[in-house]
Amino acid sequence: MMEQIDNPIEAAEYFAKIENSNFLAHSIRKIEYEFIREMGVPYRIFTHVSPKINNAITLFLKTHCIIYLPQSQDERLIRLALGHELGHLIFRFNELKESKEFDNNEASDYEEVFAWVFAYNLIRLKSDLHEQNQQMGKFIYEKGQLKTELLNIIREKKPKILNEVSKILDFDE
Ligand SMILES: [Zn+2]
Repeated sequence: MMEQIDNPIEAAEYFAKIENSNFLAHSIRKIEYEFIREMGVPYRIFTHVSPKINNAITLFLKTHCIIYLPQSQDERLIRLALGHELGHLIFRFNELKESKEFDNNEASDYEEVFAWVFAYNLIRLKSDLHEQNQQMGKFIYEKGQLKTELLNIIREKKPKILNEVSKILDFDE
């Protein structure tokens, strides 16, 4: 990673890649934000997809949790399992907020129900959102469109760097 960070083109390529351990990244980020807001301390959620396990499991620690997800050909199953584990996290939100020690005991049936109901609704809402995004295609650029939009912004905000950016991005041809 360290060598890519010096180069903005290589750094963008590195960070644009979608890894399946990053599923539901938007929701995870939002949950982490709520933890910071509520607890005043950053609580991080790490996810790890592994071919070595059969069942998803979350390891709760003081400053972070690690969600282990079983590898699957069907990425929908990984996402659903992740949604379920996030349900456990939401269920234990207050417990995590108040105590310094967490038991990683087996969840009660009540907690399991909560986690599945959360997962079902989260994935259903995400599915609706993806459908809308697809219909609008709002993040898809036609050829040349991104270039034009970028150049317009720079022309307006900082015209003196226009040539340098165009040169690096091969806009001149
Ligand atoms: Zn569970």
